[in-house]
Amino acid sequence: METCYFDYNATAPLRPEAKVAWLSASEDLWLNPSSPYRAAARVHAHLVEARARVAGLFAVAAERVVFNSGATEANNAIFAHWAATLPADACIGVSPTEHTSVLAAAQHFFGERVTWLTLDGNGAVDVSALQNVLSERQLAAVSTMAANNETGILNDWNAIATVCRAQGVPYHCDASQWIGKLPLDRLQTCDFVTGAAHKFGGPKGVGLCLLPADNSGFMSLAGGSQEFGHRAGTEDVAGILSMVAALQAVERSTAQGRDEFLVKLGQVLPAVEVIGSAAQRLCNTALLIMPKFASVRWIRALEKRGFLVSAGSACSTGKHGPSTVLAAMGVEAAAMQRVLRVSSGWATSVADWLALAAAMAECGSELSAEADDSNSTVISI
Ligand code: PLP
Repeated sequence: METCYFDYNATAPLRPEAKVAWLSASEDLWLNPSSPYRAAARVHAHLVEARARVAGLFAVAAERVVFNSGATEANNAIFAHWAATLPADACIGVSPTEHTSVLAAAQHFFGERVTWLTLDGNGAVDVSALQNVLSERQLAAVSTMAANNETGILNDWNAIATVCRAQGVPYHCDASQWIGKLPLDRLQTCDFVTGAAHKFGGPKGVGLCLLPADNSGFMSLAGGSQEFGHRAGTEDVAGILSMVAALQAVERSTAQGRDEFLVKLGQVLPAVEVIGSAAQRLCNTALLIMPKFASVRWIRALEKRGFLVSAGSACSTGKHGPSTVLAAMGVEAAAMQRVLRVSSGWATSVADWLALAAAMAECGSELSAEADDSNSTVISI
């Protein structure tokens, strides 16, 4: 049985271009790019070229691009930097729908000094409310994601960057779910941008951070002078070249498959609710509240048919509480137990989406023949 993968927001399969780049660099460019001989200078030149390509895609100066291990590292580094450089009583504004790597880092470094930003009726950050808070000079920095990993809901990060800039407040945009799906070139209006290669078909453990143009004080890891002194450590050249190959291969995704899926799903399982359907959202993502049965039962039933889907961050076997994202959006606890997240990517076809809808209908019938246990523990993926 072939596997039909619908969890791209968790991670994407390696794109063929990224695999070729990784294999060839691993064989050919394994020397330390900082070594003094000419052969290493060649490796260093590839690194310089990779940075220039990324800078070109984001339309920023190469000096703003820092390669690292991914979004979790970069998000933590930004809060650590703010904690080290902002006044000791500074408050920062953070959206309550952020990924845990932002929520936890913000709380770790700022504790009670985190101000949770207000959401609008669609679950996106309310930009006018933010503007009001900023005009009262209550915030020293702001962090919001570009696109939500659970719901796909987009924040108007361009407007957020503009209001922050007007008040001279630094703005961090976690673009992990945006990069690879939507255009990159306006992200340069944000002071800090973070992303992870494995979300767009690059390798795991590699990522990037864009820094503000004036970034002299930023240091995420102390040690050698790699990455302009912003992040010490021998560069993963193969990983970086593979990430850049994936980024260059990205084509703009369309909503056709997801939307056809939702129409078909509405016909076969009419009681399914779609979270954020009125909001601007990623065209690869659908967050569903199933009418009955706990998420884990749908996940298992779909997996038996070859479909891999996720529960978002709904709940897990006691490790995490209910989804902070859905809680911030006012979704009821009982509904959170029945959440399914489906997300597509570069290898998904419209036919795959339609097959998923048909499989969900079959699973619905299969599960109906069993007892409903929608209050049982749900496993988060
Ligand atoms: N930010 C967002 C929005 C994400 O979706 C993820 C991954 O799930 C991360 C940050 C963390 O990425 P990584 O685990 O690659 O560091």
